[in-house]
Amino acid sequence: MKKALITGITGQDGSYLAELLLNKGYAVHGLVRRASAYNRTRIDHLRTDENLANGRLVLHYGELNDLTSFHRLLHKIEPNEIYHLAGQSHVGLSFEIPEVTCLENGMATLHLLEAMREMKTDVRLYLAGSSEIFGAPQAGPQTELTPLDPRNPYGAAKAFAFNLGKIYRESHGLYVANGILYNHESPHRGENFVTRKISMAAARWAGGQKAPLELGNLDGCRDWGYAAEYVEGMWRMLQAENGADFVLATGVLTTVREFARAAYAAIGVELEFAGAGPTEVGRCARTREIVVTVSPRFYRPVDATHLLGDATKAREVLGWSPQTAATDLAKLMVETDVARVGAH
Ligand code: GDP
Repeated sequence: MKKALITGITGQDGSYLAELLLNKGYAVHGLVRRASAYNRTRIDHLRTDENLANGRLVLHYGELNDLTSFHRLLHKIEPNEIYHLAGQSHVGLSFEIPEVTCLENGMATLHLLEAMREMKTDVRLYLAGSSEIFGAPQAGPQTELTPLDPRNPYGAAKAFAFNLGKIYRESHGLYVANGILYNHESPHRGENFVTRKISMAAARWAGGQKAPLELGNLDGCRDWGYAAEYVEGMWRMLQAENGADFVLATGVLTTVREFARAAYAAIGVELEFAGAGPTEVGRCARTREIVVTVSPRFYRPVDATHLLGDATKAREVLGWSPQTAATDLAKLMVETDVARVGAH
């Protein structure tokens, strides 16, 4: 039985990946942080599903920056594959907590690479890279060969990790796959991301809590894909003969405004937008109620507008391609949240 270690198993991607690997027959070890608040809600369903996990899902307390305990854990588990997903995952927040962001997203990766180098096994490593390494490009789409030009602490830390992954692959012969993932969302996304913020607001609206949703830059746009499909790409990267860099993306840009339109359409509210900048509002076409407003509080110091990925290499080498468009994703997320809100 293959053994996988997932750092960040309690996050959005970690939970989808754990499910995928359990379904593929792996023993899955997850690294979890000790926290005073309960932080395992995304994987509870896996742990209680005896048919699926059947003793093959094991959680370990640990921190990548706690070197001695992490080494001990690696030697104990002896994984075949490591998926390094842990870290501070929010771009906006990285301006507020740059040091934590760099320690978790940058230095922790170096610790992991050093540990692998020292172990001298043929373990394969997936590094969760991000389109934010490209910064605010003037044009798209970007490929694995696009120069790095990060514009926020999150992107800088991810660029550091990406470069080190390449260096350890080339200099020390380690098997390292760098995923360059564009935004990928799901009903497991945190509410500090705009897609989930919108889907939850639409679900609450449908449930009768008709508070206007305050958003930032409605012209902000992203290449949004479905997280459940992106974890399949991660797994495929580690099945390839050699470690390499791969972009996973849809190749389509959608604005926050269009995402919101699709989300509210899923609850039968047709949005009409009028005005510009901070005075723009989105109203229900039928009732004229204000559904969306703009608050500069949510503006970014720098907001990338052309982060658009070209996943040709992943398609050709891994046979991976995205299936869910952003507007379908909005509908899927709202429907899940409507069921959740209704259940409370
Ligand atoms: P990320 O910045 O790509 O990691 O993802 P986010 O979901 O945080 O932001 C995506 C886009 O939505 C960016 O262009 C934001 O400027 C824009 N945006 C507009 N309103 C909001 C908001 O209320 N919250 C967040 N998080 N982003 C917003």
